[in-house]
Amino acid sequence: MGLFSGRKTVFVDSDVLVIGGGMAGCGATYESRHWGRDKKVVVVEKANIERSGAVAQGLYAINCYMGMQWDENQPEDHVRYARNDLMALVREDLGYDIARHVDASVHLFEEWGLPMMKDPETGRYMREGKWQIMIHGESYKPIVAEAARKAATKVYNRIMVTHLLMDKKKANRVAGAVGFNVRTGEFYVFRAKAVIVAAGGASHIFKPRSVGEGMGRTWYAPWSSASAYALPILVGAKMTQMENRIVLTRFKDGYGPVGAYFLHLKTYTENAYGKEYESTWYESLKELVGDYVDHQPVPTCLRNHAFLEEMKAGRGPIRMVTKEAFQDPHKETVGWENFLGMTIGQAVVWAAQNIDPKEINPELTTSEPYVMGSHATCAGAWASGPDDYAPDEYQWGYNRMMTVDGLFGAGDTIGGTAHKFSSGSFAEGRIAGKAAVKYINDLGKDTPEINEAEYQNLEKVVFQPLENYAIGRNEIVAGTVSPSYLLPLHGLQRLEKIMDEYVGGISSHYTTNEPLLTRGLELLEMLKEDLDHLGAEDLHQLQRAWELQHRVLASESVTHHTMFRTETRWPGYYYRADHKKLDDTDWHCFTLSQYDRESGDWNMEKAPVYHIVD
Ligand SMILES: Cc1cc2nc3c(=O)[nH]c(=O)nc-3n(C[C@H](O)[C@H](O)[C@H](O)COP(=O)(O)OP(=O)(O)OC[C@H]3O[C@@H](n4cnc5c(N)ncnc54)[C@H](O)[C@@H]3O)c2cc1C
Repeated sequence: MGLFSGRKTVFVDSDVLVIGGGMAGCGATYESRHWGRDKKVVVVEKANIERSGAVAQGLYAINCYMGMQWDENQPEDHVRYARNDLMALVREDLGYDIARHVDASVHLFEEWGLPMMKDPETGRYMREGKWQIMIHGESYKPIVAEAARKAATKVYNRIMVTHLLMDKKKANRVAGAVGFNVRTGEFYVFRAKAVIVAAGGASHIFKPRSVGEGMGRTWYAPWSSASAYALPILVGAKMTQMENRIVLTRFKDGYGPVGAYFLHLKTYTENAYGKEYESTWYESLKELVGDYVDHQPVPTCLRNHAFLEEMKAGRGPIRMVTKEAFQDPHKETVGWENFLGMTIGQAVVWAAQNIDPKEINPELTTSEPYVMGSHATCAGAWASGPDDYAPDEYQWGYNRMMTVDGLFGAGDTIGGTAHKFSSGSFAEGRIAGKAAVKYINDLGKDTPEINEAEYQNLEKVVFQPLENYAIGRNEIVAGTVSPSYLLPLHGLQRLEKIMDEYVGGISSHYTTNEPLLTRGLELLEMLKEDLDHLGAEDLHQLQRAWELQHRVLASESVTHHTMFRTETRWPGYYYRADHKKLDDTDWHCFTLSQYDRESGDWNMEKAPVYHIVD
């Protein structure tokens, strides 16, 4: 008899199952209830939706707001903006769909009590930039979570979902999910007619700049553990643009945001010798990407490029010139408040390092790469588009449904749609929720059924790391070293090292090539073999073990996509040294992958990019 055979299994029935109660998950829950008054809408979240996800500690700005009521921007403008920033490769149908709905979601936030900053003269929301509006956003997440809690039939907090379940009658149809309670260890089996994955992006794929005791200090939330990608990948959903990892320029060591500084405080950067440096790299960059370098605003990746080249030329550190702006007491207050609303750690770092931005221009750095779908980047699942706007090739029934029937996604989960941010992720969740209810209504009596053998087998798999540890700890040779198991932290560090050195992380100046990627894949394969021997001391470590499993699968996907796209489309995010230039002839397209879990093979293909907005 197994050591943990006394474990309780809890069965939960639902119509709509929302995995992840962050911004997109809350939107999906709210809207599912609106369209499905009689439906059982269940949310499952590995933390507590009150303060979970990337918005956990609050935000200072909502970065996606059109302002259509004041004719500030139209959805088409946002599509053009995102397309330009992503070097032409976005799903314009999906982006347009979010942009046309996002304002209504922001108005709901205000109605629910989110304090918005307003221009005292016009009464309009105060703009930080063309798309950003400023908020007093410390309580942004609790406010949004309250709406989701009221809409949901039940919210299951502290349950990490590890696998999706498939229908026993129809091969390509989802039927639910399994996971475990990270506090009690109960095994959960969720039956569902439709599943919406809204499990956020992925940090700790690549080695972070902060290591050792500082490793939790990454830009993207450390708990964003790639479940949004691994769960669909494992059941054969197609993914897109997984090579499009993002690198952020941020204040050094605290990853404090720079947007408000550039846009609102009108600060600028200079090299260590007080010189402007971006123009130095203009000609060489034009050689690589052609006219894209002249686009306005300059795409995010290209702005990183000049920074990186200047650092490589030995003229770092690059500094943000704050001394001038901070002489104005109003701007000084805004500068500090910007951190206090969402990245308090940056203020603490400055205090600890004797940096008063009125006296010293603070250093900037470029982050390690992250995989996500809602920022200036668009990795994620390949989804069906809106029926009134998407080209035929992008439509297979229900909006935001992946290539697996009944499996929907929103926020960081969905690929091809950059610049949705917090508000756009919530709006996309609403779009997915509405479509999921329609899908369920159309199912009629043909509802999915879970397979007993499948979830019973998964129970063994999910808890295996506890068994490995319980047995292997007797052989510990020194400290935490055991010949029989691998601790989640050790596995994570091994993953980060592989991705960093072979797939274009910080230590190789974000550069890779085919031989490096080939070796990276071999090493990832060896790591995967060892993951069967993960050892978890307790439930917390069991969660870490499954987060690692999800990160490894997402990393494999990133590596295959990076190998497939034989060009450098986004210099500043990563470089293919063997294909240095952007190549619009062959690569003005999306990359798609599909994983076969039986064989372990990845099938890669291209999909066309349709420019719908002129
Ligand atoms: C540092 C930082 C600054 C940002 N600044 C801004 C800004 O100024 N303005 C703006 O508009 N946006 C900003 N964003 C972007 C915004 O936070 C994201 O776009 C948005 O949160 C994405 O929504 P999501 O629902 O996809 O992911 P999240 O909000 O991260 O939610 C994912 C949820 O899934 C849960 N989860 C993950 N895995 C599992 C699993 N296996 N089982 C169960 N639950 C799981 C997580 O705990 C989490 O609650 C910022 C993000 C960061 C990190």
